[in-house]
Amino acid sequence: MSGEFDGLVAVVTGGASGIGAAIASELARSGATVAVFDLQADQVPEPFLGLGCDITDDVSVRAAVHEVVDRFGRLDIVVNNAGIGAQGTISDNTDAEWHRVFDVNVVGMVRVSRAALPHLRVSPAAVIVNTCSIAATAGLQQRALYSATKGAVLSLTQAMAADHLREGIRVNCVSPGTADTPWIGRLLAQAPDPAAERSALEARQPHGRMVSADEVAGAVAYLASPRAGSTTGVTLAVDGGMQALRLRPP
Ligand code: NAD
Repeated sequence: MSGEFDGLVAVVTGGASGIGAAIASELARSGATVAVFDLQADQVPEPFLGLGCDITDDVSVRAAVHEVVDRFGRLDIVVNNAGIGAQGTISDNTDAEWHRVFDVNVVGMVRVSRAALPHLRVSPAAVIVNTCSIAATAGLQQRALYSATKGAVLSLTQAMAADHLREGIRVNCVSPGTADTPWIGRLLAQAPDPAAERSALEARQPHGRMVSADEVAGAVAYLASPRAGSTTGVTLAVDGGMQALRLRPP
């Protein structure tokens, strides 16, 4: 494997499944050495270094970053991708659920980025890419908590881009529409007829299908690459045109 990430070391959170697994593969295909931080480290395939890490636990995060730098000598690319969902209106989620989902989706990104910053500052190719969602701006029904976390990811990305610009660290995010991952599979499995629900879901997408994890990974790889060397603080939508059409995912 060789390419534009030759010699660089990347961390991908949530890389044991779905979009994160596709990102890990994409970065490795272009030459990066990839470590995956995930609760399910045993699900992380070779050649990635799977580290059992809970991004809600600062000690766990710092230990994982330390292990990466100890083994590989550097850290250049951080992809903050791990996230969890939440359904309902503000009346449906408890305070504990609000704290929990923010802790994973927002503060988790902060913990990983904060632990990585000293290493990124000395990298000539330092970049952070965060996984946002169309939920950040679409006004989704029955997703108040999840949407609020992704709105925070958007503003966090912009603020971090501004703060770390002069240190040579770029910070961007990708904003997927409904993407075909185990997460969506779990939601579809709750329907009385999952296959029919899948067809209906696809028919509601502007381009007639779900976004693929590989398409999101391609966007992450672009933002992480020197080709995006003058790009920081932006959101790259990978949503089949949903935002362009001002539509909402169901
Ligand atoms: P997924 O459930 O398939 O994978 C998520 C991974 O994150 C899992 O491997 C899980 O173990 C890991 N994880 C969860 N909590 C963690 C924690 N505390 N510490 C470490 N790892 C943890 O989900 P996915 O669909 O691949 O989603 C990945 C990201 O993409 C999420 O941030 C999600 O919000 C975002 N996203 C997904 C979609 C979609 O339709 N699938 C759309 C827009 C945005």
